[in-house]
Amino acid sequence: TPKPAASRRKGQAVVMGVTISNPDKPLWPNSADSDEPVTKLELAQYMEAVADWMMPHIEGRPCSIVRTPDGIDGERFFQRHAGAGASDLISQVEVFGDHKPYIQVDRPEALAALAQSGASEYHPWNCRAHEPETPGRLIFDLDPAPDVTFDDVIAAARDVRDHLEAVGLIAFCKTTGGKGLHVVTPLAPPTGELDWPTAKAFAKTLCERMAKDEPERFVVNMSKAKRGGRIFLDYLRNDRLSTAVAPLSPRARDGATVSFPLNWTQVRAGLDPRRYTIRTTPALLTKTSAWADYFESERSLETAIKRLG
Ligand code: ATP
Ligand code: MN
Ligand code: MN
Repeated sequence: TPKPAASRRKGQAVVMGVTISNPDKPLWPNSADSDEPVTKLELAQYMEAVADWMMPHIEGRPCSIVRTPDGIDGERFFQRHAGAGASDLISQVEVFGDHKPYIQVDRPEALAALAQSGASEYHPWNCRAHEPETPGRLIFDLDPAPDVTFDDVIAAARDVRDHLEAVGLIAFCKTTGGKGLHVVTPLAPPTGELDWPTAKAFAKTLCERMAKDEPERFVVNMSKAKRGGRIFLDYLRNDRLSTAVAPLSPRARDGATVSFPLNWTQVRAGLDPRRYTIRTTPALLTKTSAWADYFESERSLETAIKRLG
């Protein structure tokens, strides 16, 4: 159980300079590692604990949030745009051609302001920072049918990595805080024109080839994905407006799990994604080197497209 913040007074607390009202309000009824409810103050303190790690992956990009102000069993709001009266700590960015400004997290204090409003998930765009039209990373979202074991999802993630490495890209893996895994590959600044449809077509081709080679393991057709026993290789996250949950974002799901960045040595049979919760993650993060080389691992998608052929 976290220690009460030093600045805590009756009925409120301060995290990163932001006043958290109703700090004892339970937002998750329990976490995977304990029966104690996870409170709003714990959420804000968690965001402070992971802010330095998380910021480079979200800043400079529009970021949708899921708000669960009355807890994960209450009403939930998926928001792209800030509501009236939103904190000044939260950036609101105009993207050319879009009517309303998008929420953007450009300073760690915004994470506390968002926690204060009950934000429990962060879903940034996959563009390069400050370049909404330029693909900055690709996400391969592995969605297992209910009867697929997690060990099979792990094997699939390793296979996606192999396919990416074969065309010169470097892959990173994270839990989603849910049922699957995400394989992420950071992209170098393009030398020519590289738009989102081109990036998506690459992801689609790669996934289609995997499904064609091993149809008993993989599907790429969403309508067939419900057929049992297989993993849906969801390449559809790779679009200008599509998102994937950010690394270290909490999930508004049972167990107060988070999307945890892994080393490939951890992506092995037996990995339990429910181990990574709002309570356990701050300590685990200090001990891991996972994703340390992420920003030195940007590689050319243009080259990868040529190699994929
Ligand atoms: P799981 O491992 O359980 O599949 P996930 O985060 O991958 O967790 P998906 O349903 O596969 O969940 O969704 C992938 C991504 O698509 C999410 O992380 C989110 O960013 C985005 N997404 C999903 N549902 C919505 C939605 N209703 N509106 C907007 N974006 C969504
Ligand atoms: Mn998924
Ligand atoms: Mn999906």
